[in-house]
Order: sequence, then structure tokens, then C-alpha cells
Amino acid sequence: MAKAVYTMGVDIGSTASKSIILKDGKDIIATSVIDVGAGTSGPSRTISETLKSSKINREDISYVMATGYGRNALKGADSQMSELSCHAKGAYFLFPNVKTIIDIGGQDAKALKIGNNGMLENFVMNDKCAAGTGRFLDVIARVLEVDISELQELDEKATQDVTISSTCTVFAESEVISQLASGAKIEDIVKGIHNSIAARVGSLAKRVGLNDDIVFTGGVALNDGMKRALERNTGHKIHTSPYCQLNGALGAALFAYQKQQLIEKKQANA
Ligand code: ADP
Repeated sequence: MAKAVYTMGVDIGSTASKSIILKDGKDIIATSVIDVGAGTSGPSRTISETLKSSKINREDISYVMATGYGRNALKGADSQMSELSCHAKGAYFLFPNVKTIIDIGGQDAKALKIGNNGMLENFVMNDKCAAGTGRFLDVIARVLEVDISELQELDEKATQDVTISSTCTVFAESEVISQLASGAKIEDIVKGIHNSIAARVGSLAKRVGLNDDIVFTGGVALNDGMKRALERNTGHKIHTSPYCQLNGALGAALFAYQKQQLIEKKQANA
């Protein structure tokens, strides 16, 4: 029986460090998300955490591919790949019909147009402004004194429309404080915040052209309230997966497997 090939994808984002170990380019055997990103202990911690939960030694990993904002600073990676390519690769693996990816991370939001074969055809990105990114939600969750993971349930309980009109995170924070002071319910404010981010990201996504099937990735895709807001804004059904935050790491691990296959082919022909 052929020996199993293990590859690792490591996605060093601005906000979180993620890694995945793949067996034979298809089975996810371990994952880890550490909620600090580039320039912190996050990269080395995510790698040791996935190795530990996979029960595989570092020497048994044939190829490590780094991606994300901090990819070039990652020691020990065999090579680096842009996060756009990795996102396209990961989403195509999970959803072979994907045509559009909406990715909302800690400090940016992007929309990617995907061709029939899973190749990246076009993309647009907002990395200039915190509004419309995970950072916006992190700031608002802090003001509302709730955990980021509670936003989706609060959103579900909303009964009234609250409009957050400020397009800047700092002003939106003040707007939320004044809504709270005037008695607005937290759940209604949360839904208003989700609608406001969906309006920004929805118009970004419309610039690449929206087609079914849309896949929502990045840490913010863990929030079902955001998914519902994007569905209302775009008028399309949106798919997510439990691996949404690990999508870039998954793509990197898949590319790592391809690279390893090439290496083995060359060795066999030598
Ligand atoms: P990056 O790759 O830019 O570092 P990620 O795609 O990992 O960012 O997303 C990080 C963001 O995901 C955080 O800023 C936070 O808003 C959001 N997030 C993380 N965990 C959760 C959760 N459990 N529920 C909802 N949102 C989350």
C-alpha cells in the first residue's frame, strides 16, 4: 500500500492564524484556528496545534504552503501562494459549483469571480476601510458587551429595524452608543449592523457580478446573521461551511499536495 501523503496549509491573516493538515490531498485530518494573526505567536501556535491534534510529526508533513497577509514571514514553509488563489482553490474543493466567493476577514473584504474549472477570473477588494470587515463587528460587539460568537443569535431575535447610517467604524460606534442610550434593543442594533455590512460588501460583490452559487468564507462567515443579511442584500442563496474560516488554509494545503505530486513525479523520472 502506498504511503499516505500529508500536506499542510497555513493561512496567516491580519487577525487570525489558521492551519489544516490534509491526507492524500482530500481528507482533512486536523485543523486549528488561533485568534491572533501576523506578527504574533499565532502562526507557530496554529502549526503546533494542528500537528498535535493530527498526531503526526512535522517530519511526516511532505509540503507546507503558506498563504495570507503574513505568508512571507512564516518560517519553515516550503513556498507561498496568494490568498486569492488559495480561497478559490478551497471553495472549489468544498463547493464544485462555486461561481462567486464573498470573503470577509478581520481587516478586509473581497469578492472573487470563479470560472467553471475553479480558476480565479476576477476579484475586487476593500482593504482600506474597517467598515464592512470583521473589525467592524469586533468593535461593535465590544461596545454591546457581547462575544462575537453571540451576534448570530441576537440577530435572530431582532424584531424592529434599526438603521445604522454611519459608514465609518468610529462614527458607527458612537451611533450604536447613542442608539443604546435611547433604548434600542441590542438584538435590533445587531441586525442593523449586519445589514450595514451587507450593504457595503454586497455592492463590492456586485462589481464582480453575482451568480449562484455564492460561497461565503472568512471568519465572519461563522456568523449566520451576516449570511442572512447578505442573502437579503444580494437576493441569492449563500452557502457556508464549518471550514469557512479555514478556506484559505484548505486551498494552501491542496496546492501543497499538487506541489508534492510534482516533486514525486520528477523524482520518479530522474
Ligand atoms: P483574517 O484572515 O483577516 O485574519 P479571518 O478570516 O480569520 O481574518 O476572520 C477574522 C474575523 O472573524 C474576526 O475579526 C471576527 O470578526 C470574525 N470571527 C471570528 N470568530 C468568529 C465567530 N465564532 N463568530 C463570528 N465571527 C467570528
